[in-house]
Amino acid sequence: MVIAVRKITPDYHAKLFASKLLQWFDLYGRKDLPWQHNPSAYRVWISEVMLQQTQVSTVIPYYQRFMASFPSLKSLAGATEDQVLHHWSGLGYYARARNLHKTAKLLTSTLDGNFPESLEELEDLPGIGRSTAGAIYAIAYQKTASILDGNVKRVLARHEAISGWPGASATTKILWGIAEKRTPKERTADYTQAIMDLGATLCTRTKPRCQECPVKSDCKSFNAGNPESYPAKKPTKKIPTKTCFFLMISNSSGEFLLQKRRSKGLWGGLWVFPQCDDEKDISIVCEHLNQSAKSWTILPTKRHTFSHFHLDYQPVMIECDPQSALAKQDILWYNPNTPLEIGIAKPIASLLGEIKQKRG
Ligand code: SF4
Repeated sequence: MVIAVRKITPDYHAKLFASKLLQWFDLYGRKDLPWQHNPSAYRVWISEVMLQQTQVSTVIPYYQRFMASFPSLKSLAGATEDQVLHHWSGLGYYARARNLHKTAKLLTSTLDGNFPESLEELEDLPGIGRSTAGAIYAIAYQKTASILDGNVKRVLARHEAISGWPGASATTKILWGIAEKRTPKERTADYTQAIMDLGATLCTRTKPRCQECPVKSDCKSFNAGNPESYPAKKPTKKIPTKTCFFLMISNSSGEFLLQKRRSKGLWGGLWVFPQCDDEKDISIVCEHLNQSAKSWTILPTKRHTFSHFHLDYQPVMIECDPQSALAKQDILWYNPNTPLEIGIAKPIASLLGEIKQKRG
């Protein structure tokens, strides 16, 4: 008797992966996330950018607030930078918000508020990388394109046991190759959602639930018993620590002086307390405000960590009057009890929050 043996070709392997994933998605996939309703290019784009480096549960309230205020590309284009950053405050990586605003303005002035049709043109827009363009193309346009966000990188690195940090260009190239081979030409939108879901719900960063995974039978890292060894961690580099003083200058109305940072760079476009690096400069500021040097109090140090350095800051309480002392452009007096629609850097927002709490 001759037994026919099916040859497992890479193509067959990829098709099997997609079909198992889609069957699992039909049964268990998430189909009720806010951006899955009416998945227009605009809605997919906003959700994808918010989801970069941020978990779904954190993103949902931000996404809902953002969509309530800016329901269309044109409404986003018509907003001020302060309004956009206000809706982003707390999500971090503010260049993402500035790029959203820039792209909305660009598309409103050039394409009457529409997104371009081709994948290449999508990728050319400010802040839209290959993966975000792929998600818009697959989910909103229902065409074939691949994505490679953090969740997908983790799933593919584990399934194929790809060593190497996914941020390294050689590893990224390998992972893109696998992602493209596995993306089916049919049901691409569902597949895209399915592989993101697998990464977010089963193939999680720690303690993946491999026993429930639809693709475990040929997952190389699962079969080797070491899924958590993939993907490789970013090579560690000791990050430096910088120090500064945040000058919390308040007036007799209980308002605090904030100044707007220039649009580019760290905390670009956000409102912050004036700051100085040296304690000597505090008395210079006090003199400028016509205050005696004894009128300020330095509070204990706090830490804010960026991706590339720690910032150890000491808040300094300075009472000031009259309130016009520093009135000029890009400076405002902010009352924590009556917040304004502006973007405020996270540590400044939490200091203002503490003041508000104390006042009751
Ligand atoms: S078997 Fe485990 S490691 Fe492999 S893809 Fe599934 S959840 Fe991830």
